[in-house]
Amino acid sequence: MTRTRKTGLIFFPAFDWAISPTHPEREERLLYTQDQVFEEGLLDFDNIIEYKPGLATVEDINRVHVCVPDARSVITESHLISAGGAITAADKVLSGEVDNAFALVRPPGHHAMLVVHGARGFCNINIEAVMIGYIRKHYGAKRIAVIDTDCHHGDGTQDIFWNDPNTLCLSIHQDGRTLYPGTGFHEEFGGPNAMGATINIPLPPRTSEDGFLYILEHAIQPIINDFKPDLIINSAGQDNHYTDPITNMRFTAQGYATLNERLKPDIAVLEGGYSIEGALPYVNVGIILAMAGLDFSHVKEPDYNPTSLRESDDLKRTIEREAEQIYKLWKNRDALREKAVGQAKYVKRRKRIYYDTDGISEQQEETVRVCSDCGGLVMIDSIADTGNRIYAVILSAGACPECRHDGEEFFALTNPGRYQHVYFQDRDQDIFRVK
Ligand SMILES: [Zn+2]
Ligand SMILES: [Zn+2]
Repeated sequence: MTRTRKTGLIFFPAFDWAISPTHPEREERLLYTQDQVFEEGLLDFDNIIEYKPGLATVEDINRVHVCVPDARSVITESHLISAGGAITAADKVLSGEVDNAFALVRPPGHHAMLVVHGARGFCNINIEAVMIGYIRKHYGAKRIAVIDTDCHHGDGTQDIFWNDPNTLCLSIHQDGRTLYPGTGFHEEFGGPNAMGATINIPLPPRTSEDGFLYILEHAIQPIINDFKPDLIINSAGQDNHYTDPITNMRFTAQGYATLNERLKPDIAVLEGGYSIEGALPYVNVGIILAMAGLDFSHVKEPDYNPTSLRESDDLKRTIEREAEQIYKLWKNRDALREKAVGQAKYVKRRKRIYYDTDGISEQQEETVRVCSDCGGLVMIDSIADTGNRIYAVILSAGACPECRHDGEEFFALTNPGRYQHVYFQDRDQDIFRVK
């Protein structure tokens, strides 16, 4: 018998926000879950406590994003409440009021990258990243592991913490060759000063929870044990479910609950999941019971049939190889950094980013100062086909004095000129400047 835990729940269904009335990311997503939570009497348990979501501020957003031209232009009130719900979950856990918390909020956030020209993958701002920025500001420097179990690659979270050695961004998802956003492969492994702090585990379509739990045991948990986080955050996307209309995986509610029971996240934040009636109510109830340390063995979908979801032997072998490769990659991170960075003083990376929700294309050049003392100074030149071109100087959390000095100088010397704006973001000192 597991010990029961005090679990905080924060609901925000965002009834006035939808991309369009028939869009899969719409307001009904949480209605059935809320009904199921009431029907199962979860709120009658003494150790499950519901809280109202708070409201995130523009300052909270500017701590981790550079929004073009500014935060207010890319969000609605719903986004501030969704991120605010994640922040409430963090506050309740870090103040010790509860043992863990689950923010069941929308709109989701894990496809929103550092620079935001618009919405992509149904996301405008990254609610976990905003929460992490808030945690560091209010509760001090923390080593944080974000385990993204959404079926889609958590490319936005990866981008925001790409150069931060103190934030482990591990995403496990359906292979990007078969699903949006088309990224999330082994070679995406973190910036020059943070190699290994980004880990991607692509899985073949039709993987079920057996494969997922195998990877959890043989790769994810050993990596977490080595990384030694102060906090584990689960970007809990539920679109791996066998009934999800936009993906191809074979998870059940039991699988999700078991995953949660073993991962033991301090904070879970809802991401995707589009099987509104067939999956979300069962998966969410399973996760809540697992977080609270209560029995979840009875939580089953009406059409639950585990034999039809069994993996082939071929698929099993692929999964075993994947777990082995990932752990080897992680173990080799220092040697890989040596090989990739060598004697370079600056490392550049060019990216093309497509905002599928808003139809915007962006081209980015990121320059990172190689530094053995911190995540490094980051400079971004970004141009979008909206005509907006911006430049941003970013100091990651834990920036060393030399990187800070160079960053301040770069910002002082860069004039708007051909840029619409020049931004300065100092994540440690909580400074955000625009000119
Ligand atoms: Zn997803
Ligand atoms: Zn440095």
